[in-house]
Amino acid sequence: MKKWLLVVFVCFFAFGAQAKTAKNLIWVIGDGMGPSAMGFFMEAVRNGHNPSYPDKKSYLEKFINASDVGLYFNNTHASIVTDSAGSATQMATGQFSLPDYIGQDYSGLDVKNIMEEAKARGLSVGIISDAYVTDATPAGFVAHARSRGQKYDIARQMIASGTDVILGGGLKYFSKGENKKLLKEAKKQGYTIVKNKKQLANAKGKKLLGLFAEEAMPFYIEKDLNPSVPTLKDMTEAALRVLSQNEKGFVLMVEAGKIDWALHENDGGASYYEMLTLDETLPVLTAFADQNEDTLIYLNADHETGAPAFAYRHLDEDQVKHKNAQGEMLYGGDTDYIDYKEFDNLTKQSRVLFYVNEDFKKLPKEKQTPAAMQAMMDKALGYHIDLSGLENPTDYEAVKKHINQVKGLSWNTGSHTSGMLIGVAYGGYDGFTGVYHNTQLKGKMMQALGWNETLPEDDED
Ligand SMILES: [Zn+2]
Repeated sequence: MKKWLLVVFVCFFAFGAQAKTAKNLIWVIGDGMGPSAMGFFMEAVRNGHNPSYPDKKSYLEKFINASDVGLYFNNTHASIVTDSAGSATQMATGQFSLPDYIGQDYSGLDVKNIMEEAKARGLSVGIISDAYVTDATPAGFVAHARSRGQKYDIARQMIASGTDVILGGGLKYFSKGENKKLLKEAKKQGYTIVKNKKQLANAKGKKLLGLFAEEAMPFYIEKDLNPSVPTLKDMTEAALRVLSQNEKGFVLMVEAGKIDWALHENDGGASYYEMLTLDETLPVLTAFADQNEDTLIYLNADHETGAPAFAYRHLDEDQVKHKNAQGEMLYGGDTDYIDYKEFDNLTKQSRVLFYVNEDFKKLPKEKQTPAAMQAMMDKALGYHIDLSGLENPTDYEAVKKHINQVKGLSWNTGSHTSGMLIGVAYGGYDGFTGVYHNTQLKGKMMQALGWNETLPEDDED
């Protein structure tokens, strides 16, 4: 090879191919949001008639199309399936851990998380969860505990660590029992404390603690019943306003936490709306990243929950005459391939079905009739699904199973799966395509942020 050509090549690899680095990292986690939940939502927007999407494209779909996409596993040190704690810990610390562990490796040692790395470099950090902030996912990013159940300890660590923005549910863990004085302590440390949507919108300062429910925040599908509670989008806007004051940059973790809860319930309508609240937050983030081009947005999940998808359903004799696609003879010819109207039926729902049953159980015994259950479910679903053929039409589990069968909505489990997950990186940073493991994510983030230098030990107290 000619010498000059070699020089050109060396120069290209040394300078031309230099990866760009980010100042800000926004890490968005859909709790339990496996590929099927993402597909279920995106397909419903494509084929349904939600007026919020006149072009029939979800922000999630647009976001993925503008990003780098990779696939990854999330097994822990000794288990194929993980919970939120083990997964958040592995993502935030880069170390193999175990279910239930918060910020500790599998041997039980505290390990440094990405928020501590950011703090040590002078960046601001924030966590948001629309479940509660002491829940496993946010805890795994800022705290260290042997069990996710140590919620009061985790709350104290959140304040002690100086996490600049803390937004979500879980007021109880900052104001009751052993933490009776924690809010006072937070105020002393400079936090502005807010408790509703209006206060959040007006909040000023450099440190923000917003706690909007005693425990978990309400499901998005019930937002009309809770008008003073901010949405995931409201919390994200406030966090960006506060954190972007730091010229060195920030790391923000945004958890759409109740996707997992809705999927655990195998509740199709509630799952749709939890995906919707995440979807409505994405344009706020991409607008910020487009105005601040040194921002990496990474969207992923901690694990898959439920794994919903439409599947063949069996029809009764009368329905068979009216179906619009022929069922396979192999399955008796009475199968149906599910009409698009099921996508619109998801959007008609206005309550979590589990809560409808809780209300039903509060009725006086003599009023807990099949007719009452039918009327309450019809109202929550926004349309009629006949429950009269059920052996026990007031048994919630049987009712829920029947509703899913009529919809043609099939669920793999009421729990978590080990299914592969999708990671989406927006902003043009290297390292996020291909197949990897969630313990590699912290390293990938540090590389994208240009944090390869080792900081001296014990640089924090
Ligand atoms: Zn989870």
